[in-house]
Amino acid sequence: MTTSSVTQKHTPMMQQYLKLKAENPDILLFYRMGDFYELFYDDAKRASQLLEISLTKRGSSAGEPIPMAGVPFHAVEGYLAKLVQLGESVAICEQIGDPATSKGPVERQVVRIVTPGTITDEALLTERVDNLIAAIYSHQGQFGYATLDMTSGRFQLMEPKTEEAMSAELQRTAPRELLFPEDFDAAHLMAGRNGNRRRPVWEFELETAKQQLNQQFGTKDLIGFGVEQAKLGLCAAGCLIQYVKDTQRTALPHIRSLTYDRQDHSVILDAATRRNLEITQNLAGGNENTLAEVLDKTATPMGSRMLKRWLHQPMRDIRVLDQRLDAISELKELSSFGEIGPILKQIGDIERILARLALRSARPRDLARLRFALQQLPDLSESMESMTNSYLKKLAEYAQPIDNVCSLLENAIKENPPVVIRDGGVIQEGYNTELDEWRKLADGATEYLDKLEQDERERHGIDSLKVGYNNVHGFFIQVSRGQSHLVPPHYVRRQTLKNAERYIISELKEHEDKVLNSRSKALALEKQLWEELFDLLLPHLEKMQNLASAISQLDVLQNLAERADTLDYCRPELATDTGIDIEAGRHPVVEQVLDEPFIANPITLNCERKMLIITGPNMGGKSTYMRQTALIALMAHIGSFVPAQSATIGSIDRIFTRIGASDDLASGRSTFMVEMTETANILHNATKHSLVLMDEIGRGTSTFDGLSLAWASAEWLAKEIGSMTLFATHYFELTELPNLVPGLSNIHLDAIEHGDSIAFMHAVQEGAANQSYGLAVAGLAGVPKNVIKNARRKLVQLENMSRNDSSNPETSIGIDTEQQLSLIPELSEAEQALSAIEPDELTPRQALDALYRLKQLV
Ligand code: ADP
Repeated sequence: MTTSSVTQKHTPMMQQYLKLKAENPDILLFYRMGDFYELFYDDAKRASQLLEISLTKRGSSAGEPIPMAGVPFHAVEGYLAKLVQLGESVAICEQIGDPATSKGPVERQVVRIVTPGTITDEALLTERVDNLIAAIYSHQGQFGYATLDMTSGRFQLMEPKTEEAMSAELQRTAPRELLFPEDFDAAHLMAGRNGNRRRPVWEFELETAKQQLNQQFGTKDLIGFGVEQAKLGLCAAGCLIQYVKDTQRTALPHIRSLTYDRQDHSVILDAATRRNLEITQNLAGGNENTLAEVLDKTATPMGSRMLKRWLHQPMRDIRVLDQRLDAISELKELSSFGEIGPILKQIGDIERILARLALRSARPRDLARLRFALQQLPDLSESMESMTNSYLKKLAEYAQPIDNVCSLLENAIKENPPVVIRDGGVIQEGYNTELDEWRKLADGATEYLDKLEQDERERHGIDSLKVGYNNVHGFFIQVSRGQSHLVPPHYVRRQTLKNAERYIISELKEHEDKVLNSRSKALALEKQLWEELFDLLLPHLEKMQNLASAISQLDVLQNLAERADTLDYCRPELATDTGIDIEAGRHPVVEQVLDEPFIANPITLNCERKMLIITGPNMGGKSTYMRQTALIALMAHIGSFVPAQSATIGSIDRIFTRIGASDDLASGRSTFMVEMTETANILHNATKHSLVLMDEIGRGTSTFDGLSLAWASAEWLAKEIGSMTLFATHYFELTELPNLVPGLSNIHLDAIEHGDSIAFMHAVQEGAANQSYGLAVAGLAGVPKNVIKNARRKLVQLENMSRNDSSNPETSIGIDTEQQLSLIPELSEAEQALSAIEPDELTPRQALDALYRLKQLV
């Protein structure tokens, strides 16, 4: 049976529905019927599950009942928000035709497609988080990747060279929607993500891509953007722009360039490092106790989003970083943030308003807010007048008042406009004389009505006579019940109330028609003026986008100045040669959550001192110390002040971390597997300009495996790579390494034991720790006293054993890794004797003797 013969059996409305559905097969179709958006068939079943709405039936078509679910149109935003959150897309289908004049079902059309990555509606977006759509493409193990922020028009591409780099980019950009070609072979990159969208392969075609992009930017070629050679990236970008155009169904004037996001300009953070350093998300997936939480007190959501982008893409260009630091210094010295911050708060999130303006989907209140923002610019200019820093001066220039736009909005839009244009009342009086006239007529020309009332009252001698209006019956003349016998015959009764009668006369009816007519004229004109207002504003779009960008930057800078001032940060010195020298450094997040004072610690890493082996008790502060070093280095590379007394930070190409033990259950890898994958990545990719943090590697396996791996990894990093490495370990044997390999030093964190309890000093000292306090920490953690006592006894036993072993030169820690295997201790005499005993063959007397002998051996 052909589709058409199937459709013919359906009711005309279902035929229309099925046709629209066939054009949008993979996404939910919201089909407008009166006050509801309805979903049918499988869509209805899915939506009822996703939205927890009831699944009903709507009659039947083609002999089968039609499953149906619906949401009221006035509450649609909430449902869309939920679906988009789940990574779903929705096609919104509206009634286009006039129900009164249509034969058969009203004409309907899909007017927009709401997708997680392209939303610009305020209600659907998270304020302080970027909302990106991305496309990924791969060819012979290399990748092309393009991202677009619909709300700012920021459109970028890049070409990660390895899967690991691609995965890091996916994590950094966290797109809400990801387009990939049908034949994409690295599908595991997208595992566990919402919003993945399969696209036909031809959408990734290079020539189509170039053509589509040139068309979008109004250019002949892409050379001006410096992306011409990035073929893989362009394939991704081409698919992306087609998809966005297709879903938005309107021009996208705010997307006017494409930039190449170069990795060699930034300090590269792989996926694990980004996670471990808890930059914007903590290990549990929340936002609490992250670097962003401490640093982000920006005044505007767009500033907050920019700060997070900076944090996720630390850069290596010292010139730019120094510019930022200079600007922050000036803002801090003049305490200008106190003045500028509140003004910026008033300005708010114009970036996203501008996107809606570009898409012509802005609402009246968006424009009122844009006007309010523009009205703040004179104050902002004034507060920036005294700035001498060149970067700040440039920002101030971009943030100059835009008087013509501001006064246009002041004249055009009412002070407090309604939410939507639908019922009018948006355009300000005095903006358009014709509109004012229609409105005056529509408002009922009260003068005329007053006069009519007066005349009729006098003419018929009815002093209770009043002229009134209501929505149902229109205009009427009301006379009290007691005087109703006085009305003349041409009065036609319209309505009877308890104490009064209402009438209509032809003269009033004529007036009513005129009023209603003018009302619809006024509304039509108002809608036309509203559309024209977009035409008047759009030529200024680019200027306003520059303004938004300048305001965002200024916001981030004033925020960092305020943070530096409040949290007592210092200006880092950025150096070109390798090395880190921090005096009294602190962990930016831990120092905020601690009740007791944070103990500041120094660190020095340079060519002679490349690797620090860090020992000390559990809970001593090893992880904190390592992470604070990485965070300070990262903060310096976004141009922020840092939590230290002084800091000199040399050039860093990448930061690597191998921290903590987390089972990656989602991808089915054990702790040890995760640990070794991360270690492998470090050993392959670190360079001598990298900062490497290794925390407790080798924990997930047997002691000797673990120790051997830790030893060999440390040695490799020191000898072969020469990266700046912080190596925390509980394998005390590793403290030998500095004696064997140049460029290594031991440092430790100390604790003091008082009987059964222990006090951590948290102060870093040179040299190796002399004991590990594991038992004391276990006691602190509430392990029962008897268990601790037994453990203490066992410890003495083990220590004696290993002391015996180390007297044997064969078993001491050797110079090279081959000898690591000999770390496995030989059996003690007592153990040998014990294993020689065959209990079944002993007489009770012999057993007793053996026991005495063993006792002696121990
Ligand atoms: P380790 O890695 O040695 O087991 P952590 O770095 O996890 O220890 O630190 C344990 C706890 O000690 C932290 O959660 C923090 O409360 C505290 N701490 C660590 N370093 C410091 C410090 N420098 N000053 C004050 N408290 C600290």
